[in-house]
Amino acid sequence: MISLEKISKHYQSKSSQKGNIVLDEISLSINKNDSIAIVGPSGSGKSTLLNILGTLDVPSNGSMKFQDAAVDLLDDKELSLLRNQKVGFIFQMHHLLPQLNVLENVLLPVIPNASKKEKKDAMNRAMKLLKQVGLEDHIHKFPTQLSGGECQRVTVVRAMINKPDIILADEPTGSLDQNSAAQVGDLLIELQEEQKIALVVVTHSLELANKMKIKYRLEKGKLIQFN
Ligand code: ADP
Ligand code: MG
Repeated sequence: MISLEKISKHYQSKSSQKGNIVLDEISLSINKNDSIAIVGPSGSGKSTLLNILGTLDVPSNGSMKFQDAAVDLLDDKELSLLRNQKVGFIFQMHHLLPQLNVLENVLLPVIPNASKKEKKDAMNRAMKLLKQVGLEDHIHKFPTQLSGGECQRVTVVRAMINKPDIILADEPTGSLDQNSAAQVGDLLIELQEEQKIALVVVTHSLELANKMKIKYRLEKGKLIQFN
C-alpha cells in the first residue's frame, strides 16, 4: 500500500559538509493489514520517518508511492485529500479541540461538504466506535473533563472516522500511565484487525511494540527488523 524506495532525509549543518543524516536510504513496504512498530533512541528519526509516511514531511532523496501514486507528483490539494481520506494520525499529545465536545472532536475530520448520507454514516460510525472504546457515556463532555487515557481513546476514534487505509501513531501512549497505555495499545490492535487497516506505531514502549506483528529498530539512519 505504501512503499518507500531508498528514502533519505538530511538537514544542513554548519559542522559537516554532508549535513546531519537522519534517514539513510530506507526502503520499506507497508501492506494492507500490517501492524508495524518502530522503536529507537530519541532523536533517531522515528517521527521524521512517520511524517514522511503521512506526507507531512518530504524526503531529501528517494521515492515514495502511496497506493501506486508517486507522492512527489501530487499537488498540495491532492496531498491534503490523501491525508484526510486515507491516513489517520495519532500523536503523543491528543490535540483535541478544547471548545468541542467528544462527539464534535471525533466528527471534525468529516469534510463539511459531505452529503447528508455521508454525515449520517459518519455519525453512526462515531457512536459505534465511541461505544467500542468505552466512551458512550462521555460523548457530550469536553476534553478537560476527561482523563489522559480517555482523551487518547477519543483521538483513536477520530483517526478512524474517515475509514483510513492506514493509521500512523507517534508515541500514542507516551504520556499515559501504564494501565491506560495498555488499554489504548489493545484498542489500536483490536480496531486495526477489525477494520482491516495498516497500523504503524512509533514507540519507546517494548510492551506496545510487542503487540505489533512486525518490529523495526531505527538506528543511525537504518531500519533493522527484529523479533
Ligand atoms: P525521534 O522522533 O526519533 O525522536 P526526530 O525524527 O524527531 O527523532 O528527529 C531526528 C533528528 O532530526 C534529530 O536529531 C533532530 O534534531 C533532527 N531534526 C528534526 N527536525 C529538524 C529540523 N527541522 N531541522 C534540523 N534538524 C531536525
Ligand atoms: Mg519523535
